Amino acid sequence: MKITRIEAVPLKIPVNCGDLGVDHPGFNSITHVEVETDTGLIGYGMTSITQARPVAEVVNSVLGPEIVGLNALFHEEVWNRMYWKATPWGQTGYASHAISAIDLALWDIKGKASNQPVWQLLGGARSSLPIYATCGFSFLDDKELVDVVKRVVSQGFKGVKLQVGRPGLGGENILALNELIKSDIKRVRDIRNAVGPEIEIAVDAACRLDLPSARKLCQALEELDIAFFEEPIVQNDVRLMAELRRETTIPITAGQNEGLAYRFRDMLLADAVDVIQPNAIITGGMTQCVRIAGLASAFNVPISNGGGAPLHNAHLQAGLTVGTAVEYQFNTVAAGDALYDQKPIQTNGMMEMSNEPGFGLAPNSDVLKSTIDSA
Ligand SMILES: [Mg+2]
Repeated sequence: MKITRIEAVPLKIPVNCGDLGVDHPGFNSITHVEVETDTGLIGYGMTSITQARPVAEVVNSVLGPEIVGLNALFHEEVWNRMYWKATPWGQTGYASHAISAIDLALWDIKGKASNQPVWQLLGGARSSLPIYATCGFSFLDDKELVDVVKRVVSQGFKGVKLQVGRPGLGGENILALNELIKSDIKRVRDIRNAVGPEIEIAVDAACRLDLPSARKLCQALEELDIAFFEEPIVQNDVRLMAELRRETTIPITAGQNEGLAYRFRDMLLADAVDVIQPNAIITGGMTQCVRIAGLASAFNVPISNGGGAPLHNAHLQAGLTVGTAVEYQFNTVAAGDALYDQKPIQTNGMMEMSNEPGFGLAPNSDVLKSTIDSA
C-alpha cells in the first residue's frame, strides 16, 4: 500500500472555552495532515500546541517528498526515514510535531485497512478511561475560576486541572514570581474549599517555574491533597525535577511536548517523575509513544495524557496496559469538536472508546476551508 500524497494545512480554529460559560474568545492552532495511498485509503493526522504554519511547511516541503512511495503500513520504516530527514542531529522542535501528525495519519490508515480502531490495534487494554477536566485557566479571575470549576464538577468530572505559574519565567518580570506563587496558592485553596475532599485537583506550570518557586508552591499545596504537579520546572530540567520530587509528596508528571524517547529515559533513571506523559500529537506519534510506553512499563511507572488532544490520545491510553487517564482541555476539545464534529463522550468522569476504524475522525471540509491560517 504505497503513499501517494501527503498534504498539511495550517488551521486557526476559533474557540471560546467550550461550554464553560465564560467569554474568552481565542484560537487553537492545529496542523491537519492527510496521507493518501494508492488503494484510495486516506489517513488523517494532526498536531497542535505550536505554530501551525511552520509545521505544515515541514510536512509539505521536507517530510512529504521523503516518504512518497513508501508502504503506508510500514510505520517503523517511515518513522525512521522522517527522523533522519528532519532531526539528524537529535534536535526536535517543529520536526517532532510534523513527524507526529504524519505518523498518526499512518495509524489511521492501518486501522481503516484492518477495520479496527487504533486502541484495539495497540492492544485493547480497556474500553473506557477516566477523563479529567483542564478548566482552571490562568486568564480567569478568582471568582470566575471557582464558578467554572464548580460547573465542571456538576457535569460529572471527578478531577480538574488548574494552570499555575503563568506566565512565570516566560513573563517579562521575573521578580513577580513571588506574587504569582502567592496568588496560585490562594486560587488552589479556593478550589479545594469549593469542591470538597472527593474531587481530584491537579496543577500544571507548563515548564514556567524555577526550582525555588516550584518548591514554595509544593510546600503550600501539600496539605490540599494535590493529585499531581505537571511540568513544574523550566525546560523539564531533569536534575531539578528530581530534586523537587525528593522534597515533596506531590506526584510529578512531565513530557507532553518532548520529542525524543531518551528524554523520558533520563527522567525515569533520575527518579524525576511519578508519571510520564508522552503525547501522541507531539512526541513522534503513536509509533514513538508505544516505544516510550514500553520504557515506562519497565520502570513500573504509568503513562498519562497531558497536552490535550483527547480524541487521539485516548487510543494510546486505552490501548496499552500502562495507560491511565485522558485530559479534557476545554479549548482543545472545542477545536476538535469543530474540526471533526466530535468531542469525547464523558459520563461521570469516564470516557467510552468507539469501535470506528482508525481514529474514527473525518475532518469537516467546510471548517478545513474556512479556518486556514494564512496570516
Ligand atoms: Mg500541560
